[in-house]
Amino acid sequence: MMSEAKHDLIIIGAGPGGYVAAIRAAQLGWNVACIEKEPALGGTCLRVGCIPSKALLESSEKFWQAKEELEEHGIWLGAIELDLAAMLKRKDGVVSTLTKGVDSLFKKNKITRYRGHGRITGSGRVTVTSSEGETNLEAPHILIASGSKVAPLRGIELDGDRIGTSTEALSYPSVPKHLIVIGAGYIGLELGSVWKRLGAQVTVLEYLDRIFPGMDSETADEALKIFKKQGLEFRLGTKVQSARVEGEECVVECEGSEPVRGDRVLVAVGRVPNTDDLGLESVGIELDARGRIPVDAHFATKAAGFYAIGDVIAGPMLAHKAEEEGIACVENLVTGYGHVNYDTIPGVAYTEPEIATVGKTEEELAAAGVEYRKGVFPFLANGRARALGQTQGRVKVLADAKTDRVLGVHIIGARAGDLIAEAATAMSFGASSEDIARTCHAHPTLAEAVKEACLAVDGRAIHY
Ligand SMILES: Cc1cc2nc3c(=O)[nH]c(=O)nc-3n(C[C@H](O)[C@H](O)[C@H](O)COP(=O)(O)OP(=O)(O)OC[C@H]3O[C@@H](n4cnc5c(N)ncnc54)[C@H](O)[C@@H]3O)c2cc1C
Repeated sequence: MMSEAKHDLIIIGAGPGGYVAAIRAAQLGWNVACIEKEPALGGTCLRVGCIPSKALLESSEKFWQAKEELEEHGIWLGAIELDLAAMLKRKDGVVSTLTKGVDSLFKKNKITRYRGHGRITGSGRVTVTSSEGETNLEAPHILIASGSKVAPLRGIELDGDRIGTSTEALSYPSVPKHLIVIGAGYIGLELGSVWKRLGAQVTVLEYLDRIFPGMDSETADEALKIFKKQGLEFRLGTKVQSARVEGEECVVECEGSEPVRGDRVLVAVGRVPNTDDLGLESVGIELDARGRIPVDAHFATKAAGFYAIGDVIAGPMLAHKAEEEGIACVENLVTGYGHVNYDTIPGVAYTEPEIATVGKTEEELAAAGVEYRKGVFPFLANGRARALGQTQGRVKVLADAKTDRVLGVHIIGARAGDLIAEAATAMSFGASSEDIARTCHAHPTLAEAVKEACLAVDGRAIHY
């Protein structure tokens, strides 16, 4: 069956980039179509990324606290048991509530949803293919928001079960005895933490000699010490060559060292742009060396009328970055104005403790020859952290030596992911460390540590 429809804007992909762009364009009065091949809206983020991983991080943290920490608060629970099936069901419930929420938002904003695979067929044209047939769509503006997929690792064939990706690690039917995580980035360390807390032995193999590549290295080093104390095992500087299933075991061969044996392998070496069968060649769009769609400052590709945002273009692969780009792209199309401040995009690892960063690292400032002053405040000296019993970590603020403008903030500690919003907001307004230091922060809060770190830039922290 073949049908046809015309819209002002067609969006390929309903991840956080695509669905948010769709809503914003509809708010601005456009007739919007959004094509998604998966049954549920919300993309990687809602289905198999941010949301299910955070649901499991929360549940596993509660399990760990019940087993290891509540006694200290005078709470005795007796024998603690894990009902993994119930934990996974709760996670699935969180996902389905949120993905259905996007369905409702589409209805509310009168966005037409097409279910199927979207393929560009020429200027202003996309064909949606589904089990029900083909639909030809036309629009003067087409936004590609097709996201990313798991990066392969040479020598490793995924079997979709024992040797798998984050998607399998979000739903293991039982707690692995020994989980081997390949890659010490955000995804590997978050999901490694989940299964460690639930009782697995976890060994993390990393090619580099550090964890969290690209993160401020002092902060990453502190995280490594804390994770080791939690019982995660690390083999840094390890080049994985292959992985195979041998009976009950998975065997991971590494260059120059003994193989590592476990019962599950999680390959978490990053993600790559997803441009599978998009028909880009039909309009002359060529990918860059890393498989990304090149765009200009307004997210326009070299093909007139085609735009791209989110994980499929350059920049950090983060849900909020995709959202910002989606909004800026359509606002620019409809109103002529739209902007993303790439200097203030935070990144958060939802480990325990959380790690959150925004702006430049010390290494980046040194490499660029920028003179900076540094203020550090440990959570040990923060009253709220003491009351919570979560005193690990610290806040580090980097400010320009001449102007005092905040250039980077790196937090490792309880609820760092929430605390970083203050730093990102302040930096968006071009704040100095003095501006934050002179802002009254409620007491007792963890946010006082941010204020104190700003005071420390000028050597005048009060409580440390
Ligand atoms: C385990 C995990 C945890 C993560 N945790 C976080 C986190 O805590 N915070 C964070 O910011 N980011 C996190 N991320 C990254 C985040 O999920 C991505 O950066 C984000 O989803 C990118 O959004 P997007 O809209 O660009 O693409 P996606 O979310 O990948 O969405 C693209 C959508 O397009 C659809 N699609 C692709 N091609 C077609 C086609 N031809 N036709 C129709 N549909 C198509 C796909 O099915 C998909 O639904 C995590 C990722 C993973 C895997």
